[in-house]
Amino acid sequence: MIEIEAFLDLHTHTRYPDNNNFPSEDIEFAAKNGGFSEILAMPNSEMVIDSIENLNKAREIDKNLKITIHRAGALTKDLEGKELVNYKEFVENGVFIFSDDGKSLIDNNLADEAFKSVASLNSAIFQHCESNCHIKPGDIAPPNDNDSLIPIDEKEESEILLRDIELVAKYGTRYHAQHISSKKCVELIKEAKENNLPITSEATPHHILENNENLDLSNGLYKMYPPIRTEEDRIALIDGLLNTTIDAIATDHAPHPESTKIVDFKNAARGVVGLESAFPMIYSSEIFSIEEIKKFMVENPRKILSEIGYEVKIPETNIWQACNKEFKTKSQFNNSIFENKITKIEKVPENV
Ligand SMILES: [Zn+2]
Repeated sequence: MIEIEAFLDLHTHTRYPDNNNFPSEDIEFAAKNGGFSEILAMPNSEMVIDSIENLNKAREIDKNLKITIHRAGALTKDLEGKELVNYKEFVENGVFIFSDDGKSLIDNNLADEAFKSVASLNSAIFQHCESNCHIKPGDIAPPNDNDSLIPIDEKEESEILLRDIELVAKYGTRYHAQHISSKKCVELIKEAKENNLPITSEATPHHILENNENLDLSNGLYKMYPPIRTEEDRIALIDGLLNTTIDAIATDHAPHPESTKIVDFKNAARGVVGLESAFPMIYSSEIFSIEEIKKFMVENPRKILSEIGYEVKIPETNIWQACNKEFKTKSQFNNSIFENKITKIEKVPENV
C-alpha cells in the first residue's frame, strides 16, 4: 500500500463549456480515478475562454464537480493569434495564466506585446510551442518515410521556445513551456534557468515513456502534438526532470471520440487521454522513486500554480495498492496509448 497526496495536473483539456459530447462528469471521474484532485483547464474548449462571459460559463459547470478546476485564459481571441485578449479583466477575475494551447502565439510583434502586458500584470504565459500550427500543422516526428505524413521537425518547438526565452529576458514575464518533447528544448530551458529567468516546464507521461522506434502508423492513437520523438529525446526529458530543468509531469489529457482516433494516422485527431494512466504508468516504469514522482506530480505543480497566484487546496490522500494487471481506462474516452499495458499499481477502489 502506498499513501500519496492527490496530484495536480497542469494540463487538462476539459472540452466543455459548450461541447455536450464531453460531459464534465467524465473529466471529474477520470481525474479522481487517476488520483488527481486539481487540474488546470486549458482555454481551448469549444467555447474558447477568451472573455469573462465564457470564463463564467465554464466556472458554472466547474463548481458542480468534486475536483478543483483552475482556469487559464486564452492568449489571443479565438486562439487565432491576431488579437490579444484583455488580460487585465481576467486577472481581476482571478485568472493569472494565459495560453493558446493547441496553438502557439506566432506573430513576433503580438508576442512582444503579450509578454510585456502579462508581465505588467504579474501573470504568466504557458506556451504550446509549434511554429507551423496556423499554416501547416504536421503529423509525425522525423525520421518518417511515409510521404503522406507531414514531418514535425524539432525546430517547430525550439524556435518558438527560443524566441519566448528572449522575451522573458526582455520583460521578466513568468513563463511555462508546455509539453516539452525534445533534447534541444531541454537544453534551452536549462540555460534559461541558469540565467535565472522565471521559467518552468513540464513533460507528459507519453513523451517520458515512449519513443518513435517502431511507431505503428496504422494506429491513430499515437498522433499527438508534440509528437513522440527519438530515444535520445526521451532520455533527455528524464534527465531534465532529474536535474530540475523540467519541473512537472503534466498529462495533456485530451479526450477524443473513437471515430476520430481509431482511424489511420493522417486522419486522426491529435491527443491522448492521460489522467487515469499518468501515475500508474510512471510508477510502473520504475524510472523514478516515489519521492521524485511526488515532486513532479504533487509538490512542483502546486508550487507553480500557487506562486502564480492560484489558491491550491490541501490535497486529500489517496491509497494505492500493488497489482500486476493490464491497465484499463474506466472513463468514457479511452484514447490512451497505455491501454492494456501492464500496471504494477492501482487505486484502492473504495477510495475512487
Ligand atoms: Zn498543447
